[in-house]
Amino acid sequence: MKRSVFRWFRDISIAKKLYFTVGIMALLIAIELVVLFFSINTLSSVRAYVGGEGLWSKAQKDGLYQMLKYARTHDEADYEKFQEYLKVNMGDHKARLELSKPDPNLDTVRQGFEEGRNHPEDVDGMIKLFRRFHSNSYIHRAIVAWTKADETILDFVALGRRLHEEINSPIHSPGGIDALLNQIDPLNDRLTPQEDEFSYALGEGSRWLEGVVLRLLFIVALTVECTGLILAITVSRGIQKGLTEILLASRAVKEGNYGRKARAYSADEIGTLANNFNSMADELYKLEQENQEVYSSLERKVRQRTQELESTNQELEQFAYVASHDLQEPLRTISGFVDLLKKEYREKLDGNGHIYLNYLSQASDRMKTLIKDLLDYSRIGREKKAMPVNCNNLLDEVIADLGKSIRESGARISTGHLPVLNAYPTELKLLFQNLVANSIKFRHPERAPEIIVSAAQEGGKWQFAVSDNGIGIERQFLERIFIIFQRLHSRTQYEGSGIGLAHCKKIVELHQGHIWAEASPGQGSRFFFTINKDL
Ligand code: ADP
Repeated sequence: MKRSVFRWFRDISIAKKLYFTVGIMALLIAIELVVLFFSINTLSSVRAYVGGEGLWSKAQKDGLYQMLKYARTHDEADYEKFQEYLKVNMGDHKARLELSKPDPNLDTVRQGFEEGRNHPEDVDGMIKLFRRFHSNSYIHRAIVAWTKADETILDFVALGRRLHEEINSPIHSPGGIDALLNQIDPLNDRLTPQEDEFSYALGEGSRWLEGVVLRLLFIVALTVECTGLILAITVSRGIQKGLTEILLASRAVKEGNYGRKARAYSADEIGTLANNFNSMADELYKLEQENQEVYSSLERKVRQRTQELESTNQELEQFAYVASHDLQEPLRTISGFVDLLKKEYREKLDGNGHIYLNYLSQASDRMKTLIKDLLDYSRIGREKKAMPVNCNNLLDEVIADLGKSIRESGARISTGHLPVLNAYPTELKLLFQNLVANSIKFRHPERAPEIIVSAAQEGGKWQFAVSDNGIGIERQFLERIFIIFQRLHSRTQYEGSGIGLAHCKKIVELHQGHIWAEASPGQGSRFFFTINKDL
């Protein structure tokens, strides 16, 4: 039972928990107020009895005085006054008698108390006190004292009546009146302790009641405080515990741990939130999982495609190598026979024959160059290893190799501080050589070439620049020039086969970098390339 109430409270909504807490508090405060109201009423009724006792005692004393006066004066008016005073005591007597019955007539009781000169507003409270608490030891003692005093009062009334008869008797003797008057003192002596007992019993009763009421109020107030505190702590702990769970689970999700679920301690809003959070995390997990699958399949496809491309590339390179290598042999035969023809049949040939022979010789030379270039191209990066290369030393070698054309063109080449880096030395030298040679070859007819080679660090790469003040390149050709055998000029204008920049591109890619050009026609060109630091 206790467990199910606890579970019920745990699972109701937070709003209901708060209503419940406030409701319980309100109920306890209402109980406290009822207790207070009841206690005040009871104490006020006790006070009414104490007041009534005062009136009762005064009426008895006044009656006694009138009786003594009547004995002296024999005036009927004094006897009537005596009777009038004792009506107060008789009224209370009437009320007590009726109240002692199991089913009292409350109108008679009310009438009795009012004759006893009690305030009408106090009467109902006095009735309730008598009926509710007659078995309480203090009230019982007071009722016993009251009953005894009532009996004495009846004796008192009877004494008064006998005095009246004696005085009005035609044969009365002064001795008879004296004998009656002598009975007053013992009666009075009996009454005084009975009145005292009544007052004491009520006084003690009211003190006892005050104590009980104070204790009761204290207990109820303490219960209100404790219940409020316990409920507030229970509710806030429940909320805090649930929220901490959700917080921890969300942190785990943030770190990629989807297995850490938020425990739902209750079925209230926090518990629902925890469950919703868990399903959200599950959804998220599935979604990532799905993404992972898509990503993996994409990765697989890319890898497959790369492998395919690499093997195609290798096949092509192999083909180019084999083709150019195998072409050399028949070409050598052709140029050998061209040389023989020139040597042995020179005289037998006419003018046209000489011209054709020259064309044949030039064409076979050109084919030799093309085949050599193609062979070089297909050899780039074959079974080579990267090693530390000092670029300044490399440039010095290039400048020495190009010494003749540098001198002839009057070119000035400046190289700043270039790095030592991990690279393929032969290929890197060829790269610089091609770029510098092009800068000299495509120089402006009106000025000597000015060539600057520089390098700078860009993230994980070195970025090189070779700039010149040559003829420049039209914007639309800036990409085409890197394609093998693509040229912008005829061979009569500029020597070359159009493979130099294709070589450069292949070498740069071997160094996991890329190459591009910027240029303005008539002003100059600038070639950039990057080289990965971690080769
Ligand atoms: P080639 O030098 O044999 O013509 P390349 O591949 O080296 O072949 O160059 C391709 C083309 O790019 C050249 O024909 C030329 O038009 C252009 N080019 C290359 N370098 C420069 C340069 N420094 N200035 C102007 N044009 C250039």
